[in-house]
Amino acid sequence: MAKQDCKLYIAGKQQNAVDGQTFETRNPATGELLAQVQQAGQADVARAVEAAQAGFATWSAMTCAERGRILRRAADLLRARNDELARLETLDTGRPIQETSVEDINSGADCLEYFGALAAGLSGEHIDLGPQAFAYTRREPLGICAGIGAWNYPTQIACWKAAPALACGNAMIFKPAELTPLTAMKVAEILSEAGLPDGVFNVVHGFAETGQLLTRHPDIAKVSLTGEVGTGRKIMADAAGTVKHVTLELGGKSPILVFKEAEIDRAVTGAMLGNFYSGGEICSNGTRVFVHESIKDSFLERLVARTEALKIGDPLDPDTQVGALISEEHTQKVLKAIADGQKEGAKLVTGGQRVTDPPFDRGGFVTPAIFDACEDDMTLVREEIFGPVLSLLSFKDEEEAIARANDTPYGLAAGVFTRDLARAHRVIARLQAGTCWINNYNLTPIEMPFGGVKQSGLGRENGKAAIEYYSQLKSVYVELGELESPY
Ligand code: NDP
Repeated sequence: MAKQDCKLYIAGKQQNAVDGQTFETRNPATGELLAQVQQAGQADVARAVEAAQAGFATWSAMTCAERGRILRRAADLLRARNDELARLETLDTGRPIQETSVEDINSGADCLEYFGALAAGLSGEHIDLGPQAFAYTRREPLGICAGIGAWNYPTQIACWKAAPALACGNAMIFKPAELTPLTAMKVAEILSEAGLPDGVFNVVHGFAETGQLLTRHPDIAKVSLTGEVGTGRKIMADAAGTVKHVTLELGGKSPILVFKEAEIDRAVTGAMLGNFYSGGEICSNGTRVFVHESIKDSFLERLVARTEALKIGDPLDPDTQVGALISEEHTQKVLKAIADGQKEGAKLVTGGQRVTDPPFDRGGFVTPAIFDACEDDMTLVREEIFGPVLSLLSFKDEEEAIARANDTPYGLAAGVFTRDLARAHRVIARLQAGTCWINNYNLTPIEMPFGGVKQSGLGRENGKAAIEYYSQLKSVYVELGELESPY
């Protein structure tokens, strides 16, 4: 891919940053420079806010049906450009093309389509107060929303934030992660092409400082972050200054519980999907795999055999199943977690090695790691690694498994594998997690709300639930009778 300039997207067009500062984005698999990216400072954020105010005035005055039509058109355009965008996503993230070509763009398009359809049905309610009065509610937009994204699923994150925000009549200023700025620009262009008025969806690039300019801005009504728990805390504190609405999609250390009556191969598939898909760079991953002691040995044997067969390689090769980690810094963090896990006494059964033979020496390629002999209090088992590292634990009974699964400050997701449906629902009801799967793992259909409890976050993305987080109710009392005065 030729080196290009990645500008800001403000008021419906690409624009340079006022002070001309730039940073680089590189292909994590090869180190190749992909683009010089314009970095937004205070003056650029001010321009984006001004554009969003103008866009909001136009957009919020349109009917819900008109707004829905534009979002659905954008979904079609996104799907039509799937191959081109998937390739760009793979270049920027290092994730395999076999994933990005079926997951990322589709998920973004599904989201625009879903909220495009939902937009037309947004309404308040009529409240009967007897013959002399009634009340009604209006569902109104919040105003300008800031979206701040993580680097693992950039197109999906941009769409998961933009679609519900725009469906409700808001304008958005989106800041992609500085490591993956490219595809949010494509989403912005496609929204414009679909007929979105200028200024309704803007993109500013930069680091934490640019994010902070958004979270502290008095004219921004809401911030929605996908990122680490620590970032979530800082953003919540910054947003408090102007009492902004906040949605936080944060990290996790989610449990997968495999009971003795589970279909073992299905549970192994679930554990692999929940640890090695996207090189383990998925927030909801089930990185603590609790397997009943009676089946642990056969589970481990099959897990190791299938994991060792995974094909690590060039992310653009359609056969590649494990690509490159996002950056050298992140690769070092993952390798350190693996080394520390061994020092703590966990047994590295397979993987966990950096592949350094050319051409892998130019990127962060790490073979999927499986740890056995883990203890609940090991750092390996307690802290999010965000890489291809699975910790295997065994349990004796259901009560113990639930207590240990819940023994974490996180609460993003959980999975249960069993053929006993009564057990499945009983256990799920007691797991402290916002998103759960029974006999599957990590599927996120747009129709299903997604989000965490405890320190994994606040609010929900997707599903009808997301509407609550991008709109506010106005209550209107209407007097039909006399107004009696006590004065
Ligand atoms: P970070 O928290 O480091 O960054 C997220 C975004 O916030 C980036 O755009 C970042 O900018 C920006 N940012 C950082 N500090 C601030 C600040 N003080 N004020 C405003 N903005 C700020 O997360 P990562 O990008 O490293 O992503 C990995 C994390 O995201 C993991 O913990 C993962 O679990 C979580 N995640 C959660 C998901 C969910 O839905 N629950 C889904 C995907 C990931 P910059 O680009 O410069 O770093």
